[in-house]
Amino acid sequence: MSEKRRITVAQGDGIGPEIMEATLRILEEAGAKIEPEFIDIGEKVYLSGNTSGIPDEAWESLRRTKVFLKAPITTPQGGGYKSLNVTIRKTLGLYANVRPNISYAPFVKTKHPDMNMVIIRENEEDLYAGIEHQQTPEVVQCLKLITRPGSEKIIRYAFEYAKKNNRKKVTCLSKDNIMKLTDGLFHSVFKEVAKEYPEIETEHWIIDIGMAKIADSPQEFDVIVMPNLYGDIASDVAAQITGSVGLAGSANIGDHVSMFEAIHGSAPDIAGKGIANPSGLIQGAIMMLVHIGQGDVASKIQNAWLKTIEDGVFTGDIAKGGKAVNTKEFTDAVIERLGQNPSTFNVVSYNEEDAKEVTKSTLPSQAHERVDDSIVRQLDGVDVFLFDNRRTPNQIGEILESIEGEHFELAVITNRGVKVYPNGFPETFTTDHWRCRFQAKGHVTNKEITELLERVRHADLDWIKIENLYLFNGERGYSLGQGQ
Ligand code: NAD
Repeated sequence: MSEKRRITVAQGDGIGPEIMEATLRILEEAGAKIEPEFIDIGEKVYLSGNTSGIPDEAWESLRRTKVFLKAPITTPQGGGYKSLNVTIRKTLGLYANVRPNISYAPFVKTKHPDMNMVIIRENEEDLYAGIEHQQTPEVVQCLKLITRPGSEKIIRYAFEYAKKNNRKKVTCLSKDNIMKLTDGLFHSVFKEVAKEYPEIETEHWIIDIGMAKIADSPQEFDVIVMPNLYGDIASDVAAQITGSVGLAGSANIGDHVSMFEAIHGSAPDIAGKGIANPSGLIQGAIMMLVHIGQGDVASKIQNAWLKTIEDGVFTGDIAKGGKAVNTKEFTDAVIERLGQNPSTFNVVSYNEEDAKEVTKSTLPSQAHERVDDSIVRQLDGVDVFLFDNRRTPNQIGEILESIEGEHFELAVITNRGVKVYPNGFPETFTTDHWRCRFQAKGHVTNKEITELLERVRHADLDWIKIENLYLFNGERGYSLGQGQ
């Protein structure tokens, strides 16, 4: 390949420019055929008056090049612009976050010398949809959205990744014993997709024990796929127990654009000192080279980097009080070793097959292109949520029973998910937020629900939101209230 591939590069904040300079030097010396287009995003852009933190030219460059090498950016806490990472991932549909977690013992100290697992985290959905509301003075909520197409895309990605990288097992972690619908959907899609890959071993663990196992015996895992929040937490734990978060890179893969980065942040405490470890970003850049079909250059850099680690050349974060080099000296050491191979670690050779992208999702990206008329949706009732800080559960229940009408029957009232009417316990702690479930008696439509809400209003009760209850092909599409 002689043509240079254009890539978009952001130098980031804090130590970002220092580790990006180091990484680009290594890429150039190794003969990577790339042409960087530099964009500014993050703190500098925000402080210059662009409150989104991402100027239009940056989006245009990303759309044009489709490959993004990004240094860490500073995210203001408790105010300022939203996390640019989350914005970039969701806007560009970077649905798969891929993080290899490898230990480099005995050269880098770790309690887990045999660790070599890849965490594949769903990157767009779950609680990160960012839909939060304060509903009453006492209660706030965050919507956890798990979708069938989103789950299918990430789980299929995990299996394709395992197949292509010759990995033997895919583990799914979820909490479907509690969140039977949301995590239940993720787990059931996992079981469906797994059937298409009989050569790959599969297992599922509830997230709490799964997480404990990752921390205790990570060598038992191979590829792990998880919804967004669990994946966020698990991948940092996994990186840390390899010996250092400073050594890992990650890829954020989408159907159109992909982004590569270090997993750590902008480390403002050491910015400008020239001592940061560039390894995480180098690993991100290696994943990028494999992705764009330059596996030969990626192998050359990976082998030189492994040899550098074997030779005990460490920045301060790894040397931990021992002899340390600075960013430039570490970079020079990697460049000096280009063309050499490690002697203890396995020599890496990314081949043509690796260079091909793992998979493009075959699902159409727009809902209107995925219409499935075989799914029959039937209204089965409504949950009416009330704000009330004056009445007792029995008072609310009696009023609602008097206005339920011919189409509905008040089935249960719960508070924080616990039944308080009928036959509630006086010991149950309650807030000002009540979920009142009306089960439909026969066929109802949104018209009957609107009429019910009008009766609630006339009874001087303050409804704050509703959730319709549906059956999908006759199957209940909502969880039962406790005690129902
Ligand atoms: P951090 O990862 O920046 O730093 C944590 C600790 O690790 C610090 O002591 C730091 O000096 C050290 N460290 C991190 N990377 C290092 C490296 N390459 N070499 C040597 N030491 C290194 O985490 P933080 O302090 O929580 O976050 C700082 C900022 O980075 C925040 O604004 C945060 O939002 C942002 N952040 C950005 C990204 C990203 O852009 N992908 C990821 C995480 C955090």
